[in-house]
Amino acid sequence: MSDFNFYPTDISLSDDHCLVIEWNDNASSRIPFKALRDNCPCAHCREAARNLQPAELLPVISAAEARPLMIQGMKPLGNYAYTIAFSDGHDTGIYKLELLRQLGDLSSET
Ligand SMILES: [Zn+2]
Repeated sequence: MSDFNFYPTDISLSDDHCLVIEWNDNASSRIPFKALRDNCPCAHCREAARNLQPAELLPVISAAEARPLMIQGMKPLGNYAYTIAFSDGHDTGIYKLELLRQLGDLSSET
């Protein structure tokens, strides 16, 4: 979508582990940290998601996953994306504004 022309006017982290984005059209997105992490757009995570076999979808939870996932840092990349550093050590995802907006729309339906 090349005509994407929304931009955040305010970004904050809520007490209940959500990234809260206020947009220039007065819309507001609340995206749980876990949803952000699960939708990490980096090549490594996309590859991992593609290679998942049904047998690997067992509810195995590692110690790192059992801890509440936090956002440790968020840096603008140009004027179109953010990089997000998660508490599990992962920080290579580049979250374009379009993606953040999409994730916010998804989670607002619940
Ligand atoms: Zn990733």
